[in-house]
This record gives sequence, structure tokens and C-alpha cells, in this order.
Amino acid sequence: MQTLNASIITIGDELLIGQTIDTNSAFIAQELNKIGVWVQRRVAVGDVYHDIWNALEEEGKKSDIIIITGGLGPTADDITKPLLCEYFGGQLIVDQNVLAHVKFLFEKIYRRTGPILERNLNQAQVPNNCIVLHNARGSAPGMWFEKMIAKENNKVPSKTVYISLPGVPHEMKGLVTTEVIPKLLREFSFPSIIHRTVVTSGQGESVIAELIKDFETALPKHIKLAYLPAFGMVRLRLTASSFDKDALNTEMDFHFNQLVSLVKEYVVSESDTPLEVMLGEILRQRKATLSTAESCTGGYISHLITSVAGSSEYFNGGVVSYSNKLKQTILSVSPHTLKTNGAVSEETVREMVKGALDTTGSDYAVATSGIMGPGGGTEAKPVGMVWVTVGNRKSIATKEFHFRFDRERNIRQTAHVALDFLRKFILAND
Ligand code: AMP
Ligand code: MG
Repeated sequence: MQTLNASIITIGDELLIGQTIDTNSAFIAQELNKIGVWVQRRVAVGDVYHDIWNALEEEGKKSDIIIITGGLGPTADDITKPLLCEYFGGQLIVDQNVLAHVKFLFEKIYRRTGPILERNLNQAQVPNNCIVLHNARGSAPGMWFEKMIAKENNKVPSKTVYISLPGVPHEMKGLVTTEVIPKLLREFSFPSIIHRTVVTSGQGESVIAELIKDFETALPKHIKLAYLPAFGMVRLRLTASSFDKDALNTEMDFHFNQLVSLVKEYVVSESDTPLEVMLGEILRQRKATLSTAESCTGGYISHLITSVAGSSEYFNGGVVSYSNKLKQTILSVSPHTLKTNGAVSEETVREMVKGALDTTGSDYAVATSGIMGPGGGTEAKPVGMVWVTVGNRKSIATKEFHFRFDRERNIRQTAHVALDFLRKFILAND
């Protein structure tokens, strides 16, 4: 049995000019990957009839499953539906279920008064040769078409599925999760794709690569190793697929355990868990609470922490003390410290942590102060210089970092090193 291949076609001029970042492809690829479908191609085209048509033609020769997003809106630039209808030789008819759903959305959910516009009602029109996929989150339904097509490497025509989904990310996601994946699982048989990820911190990828070079050379060809460095951490991922899931699991366990033991002194997690989730777990296990005192990160650390569901259990809140005035009034940083050492200094961040612990009563606090750029740097304190402090009532630890990237990256980098620093501090000060 062969692995099924997929193509993703994203449609929209906005994708080509970079106004909208194509997040749909990433989500779809992840979801397909989980059920063992290999996404072999991603194609982006504008709202141009012939380009879309050609993409359908090309991808149909290469892939078994073609997922299309975008161009299903009620406006004139959205041409996917009539095009698909023509491509598959159908006719547009009103689908009574979709019509009822559109009316329900406009009257009960959006609470629009007055008649529904013709262009919105038209969303209930679908080609008569497709299977309609219910879009609970919006008015444009998904559409599933099937055709027998000979692939480039196999002259015997095989079942090829085209699935058209709206471009709006949260509608697309709803459809993929509740309609597309379950239907694919019913219609095809898939191998299992297994990923195992170990997250390391404290060494760059070159050092890690040296540590595991013999392991890498000895790894069987069907198991792939990927290095994924980001924000001072390196994720190492093993991937393989097989129709015999149990045998593959055993094999992956063996290689993964070897890999983990080789890098054990740098291991942060043996699953692909974001740092903020790991930190949350550590705090929850200790029934400890946390507060932040952020200057240069402007609340980004708090944002990462609170993006984890249930973070209210351990996160009390934080102060975005961007100005010297707020550092003094809310965190009790002394004017003398600020005057003598400046806002970006070890002394200031230490006082910020103390102030945060006192004001909030939390068990732990983290503080940041730095120069994010592009302006504001000096010889002594260049752009990218950051002080991060973490502490509890017994001790405080401080680190100086030097980043060199643009402002946005510096902020994100600072937030990640701060969370990692805090994680290590809590583990070491149990
Ligand atoms: P459309 O279905 O073409 O009307 O697109 C509706 C909305 O979804 C627009 O705001 C698009 O910018 C957005 N969108 C379309 N395609 C994508 C994509 N591939 N990734 C993320 N957003 C998208
Ligand atoms: Mg569009």
C-alpha cells in the first residue's frame, strides 16, 4: 500500500503580495500529516481564472488529495466556486441545507435586521456534482469533488479528491477538523506518521550536532532527523511512517531513547511542548504563583503566559513598567538606581523583581529591561542589550543578553530567554 500525496492550493492576490501570510497551508499540512498524508506540494495563485484552472490541472496529475482554500467569499473577486463548477462539469443549484444555515447565521447569530443580500444568499448555491461540507462557522460551505485521474508516475487513473474550503482561517480550521479529516479517514486507508521530539536548551545546533553525529549516521534511512533551532533552544525531531504502527512505535522508542540519552544534560522536554506550557506545569505542580515586571518586552511575556489555558491558576498578573516613572511608583525602583545605572541595568531589573514580588505577593517574578532598537543604542549599551532577572523571596538571579536582530525579534527572543531562565531558576531553587 502506498502513501497518499497531497497538494495544497491557496488562492488570493493578497497572498502573493504578502498582505496576508499563508497560515492556512501550515495548518492543513499539520492536520494531514497527523493522519499520514504527505503534503508534497504547496501552490499559491492569485484570483485569476486561468491560474487557478492550471493549478487544478497540474496538481491533479501529481496528488491524490488536493485541498484548495480561498476565493469563496460573496464578492466579485472570489471566483473559485463557479470555476470549480465548470472544471468538474456541473451546474450551480441551491442547497436547501446551506440556505437554511445562511439564514440562521444572518438572523440568529449576526442578528442582522432587514433582508439578507442576494450575494449572501448566493452562498447557498453549490455545484450539483460535489458533496457539500457543512461550515458551522460561516456561510461559505466546503465542497468535495472526486475524479479519476492518471498520475504522472502511474498511467492507471486513480481516485483523486479535490476539497475546496473558505480562506477565512477559523472557518477553514473548523471544516478541516470536523468534516475533511473524518471524511478522509473514512474514504482512504493511511499509514501512521510518527514524530518524536526532544527539546534542548543551552547549546546551539552545531554543538548538538557534534554530540549526536554517530547516532545520526547510524539512523536507518526511513527515519528522518530534523534540527529545529529557535530562541536559544534546539528541537530535535525524529519522523517516520509505516502501516504497522506498533512495530514503528517500538523502533522509534529505541532510537528516540538513544537520542535523548546523548543530549540528556540539555533536555528540557521529551515532547514538543511550548516553553510557556512547560513553565505553567512547573508552577502548577508547586502550587506557586508568578508575576511579571516588563519594560522592553511590553507585556509580551505576560501574553505568552496567558495564552495557556488555565494560566490563572498560577499567574497573578504583571506590570508593563515602560517608563522610569512607573518603575518608581509601582515597583519602587529607587530614583538613585535609575539615575546612577540607567533603566537598562542589572541594578534596575533586580529592583523591578523585588518590587513585583512585594506589590503582587507572588512566589516568583521575572523582569526585563533592554534596548530593542532600532534606535536608542549607545556604545556602552548597544541595541540588543537586555537584562533579565528572575527571583523569589530568597534569591534573585540576573543575566545579561546581547541580541542583534530587529525590534520584533529582540522582543520575542527576550521573552523566550526570560521564560527559560525562570524555568531553570524554579527547578534549581525547589
Ligand atoms: P477569501 O475566501 O478569499 O474571501 O478569503 C477570506 C479571508 O481569508 C481574507 O481575509 C484572506 O486574507 C484570508 N485568507 C485567505 N487565504 C488565506 C491563507 N492561505 N492563509 C491565511 N488567511 C487567508
Ligand atoms: Mg479572496
